[in-house]
Amino acid sequence: MDCLFCKIIAGEVPSSKVYEDDMVYAFRDIAPTAPEHVVIVPKTHIASANEITADNVKYVTAIWKAIPGIAKILGVSENGYRVVNNCGADGGQTVNHLHFHLMGGREFGWPAG
Ligand code: 5GP
Ligand code: ZN
Repeated sequence: MDCLFCKIIAGEVPSSKVYEDDMVYAFRDIAPTAPEHVVIVPKTHIASANEITADNVKYVTAIWKAIPGIAKILGVSENGYRVVNNCGADGGQTVNHLHFHLMGGREFGWPAG
């Protein structure tokens, strides 16, 4: 399958790994929008949030289980951080493999633009 994030998980495309377990892979975004910006992906191809099902939601659970530890690794636990999922064209999704952005190291406004 021609999926960039599947290739990153497989090690076919290099990435700067921050965290990994049996279901989750997290790596530094190539174009960070914050001092700390990590992309967190399930180690199975789920195209977008629209494709989350009762069968594969365990990967989303695993991602959220990993998030506090990833935040700790990045040193942003205390000051806080933002987690974002972009879904589809209007959501701004550019890579069609479900992922969550964890961003920290600066203050974010709300509502998001
Ligand atoms: P999206 O826009 O789909 O929510 O997020 C995709 C993210 O993947 C973007 O923030 C983009 O900078 C990042 N990205 C795209 N290609 C690569 C790559 O080859 N390596 C890494 N580390 N990040 C990438
Ligand atoms: Zn994929």
